[in-house]
Amino acid sequence: MIGCENSKKSDSDSNKEKCLSDDVINLDQGDPTAFQEYWMKMKDRCTVVIPGWDLMSYFSDTTNVCWFLEPELEKAIKALHGAIGNAATEERYIVVGTGSSQLCQAALFALSSLSEVKPVSIVAAVPYYSTYVEEASYVQSLLYKWEGDARTFDKNGPYIELVTSPNNPDGIMREPVVNRREDGKVIHDFAYYWPHYTPITRRQDHDLMLFTFSKITGHAGSRIGWALVKDIEVAKKMVQYLTINSIGVSKESQTRATTILNELTKTCRTQSESFFDYGYEKMKSRWERLREVVESGDAFTLPNYPQAFCNFFGKTISTSPAFAWLGYKEERDLGSFLKEKKVLTRGGDRCGCNKKYVRVSMLSRDNDFDVFIHRLASIKDRKCNQP
Ligand code: PMP
Repeated sequence: MIGCENSKKSDSDSNKEKCLSDDVINLDQGDPTAFQEYWMKMKDRCTVVIPGWDLMSYFSDTTNVCWFLEPELEKAIKALHGAIGNAATEERYIVVGTGSSQLCQAALFALSSLSEVKPVSIVAAVPYYSTYVEEASYVQSLLYKWEGDARTFDKNGPYIELVTSPNNPDGIMREPVVNRREDGKVIHDFAYYWPHYTPITRRQDHDLMLFTFSKITGHAGSRIGWALVKDIEVAKKMVQYLTINSIGVSKESQTRATTILNELTKTCRTQSESFFDYGYEKMKSRWERLREVVESGDAFTLPNYPQAFCNFFGKTISTSPAFAWLGYKEERDLGSFLKEKKVLTRGGDRCGCNKKYVRVSMLSRDNDFDVFIHRLASIKDRKCNQP
């Protein structure tokens, strides 16, 4: 049993503790290394070889609005969404980006530069993905202005609402909250709308949807994301932004992403090989371990998620978000407290919220996750944590 410092420990617990490192563990960033084990088991199945003479041009298909999108990647994206059933790709333009981070900024540029009135207000409901604040304010654009929480937003004039569903940091499925459709635009960020994180309950069908390769398979280093865009003028403006910003997107990365996405599609119905079956089990087991620790103590809180029928798996499943939105039951700066325990997390204040909440990455390597669970177990009771 792991509890207060003075509680009795079994031999196996003591042995396990010896194996666990005393290092600082970083669960602040959502670096998705949890899935590496799966790709190692795939051995050479997704190895990509690119001859020295290949992929030299800036261009991929000059007839496409997104002229730097590799046609094979476009096909792979459509096939994967078709197989999973999480988003409509018909009658849409696909814009590829260097991660969906670049696409989010391209979308802010496109929507606001097409607006007659500027600056356009940018909002997101609290708790929001903290990077939106930087993306909307870093370059101090005259086109748009970060206005914070969408729930309390009451300014007149055009606005863009960023809707992340399931949400980063708290894993809740979300809808827009500002209700003024005539001068409002919505960017739907579906980074985590995949069956290993959340039940796929509907095929999303919005004007501007963002996806990222990073959080599907864990290949964040390839820096590939894509936008599904209905309006050609918006797609063109996004492509203009990407052209000025980076003259397109690495062809090597697109090629690797194509190979891996095709493999996902090919194996997604073969339970023994499917990445999504593997990812679902992995995330579910991590969440079970985390809940067990939290529920056996009286210090921490976690959100509860309703089970739902997943159209992809064809059964009712639980939700296992990429981040845990961990709360403390009393007023306390939880981020600083966990830092004393050598666990780095993202403070709730960065997400527009109270400091008694933190965002904890659930996508770390196994060893870091084990250390986290172990350290959390040692502080799970409030009586152990008096300053
Ligand atoms: N949106 C959300 C909600 C995210 O959590 C992330 C990654 N943390 C991104 C977008 C950006 O992902 P990337 O740039 O790696 O595609």
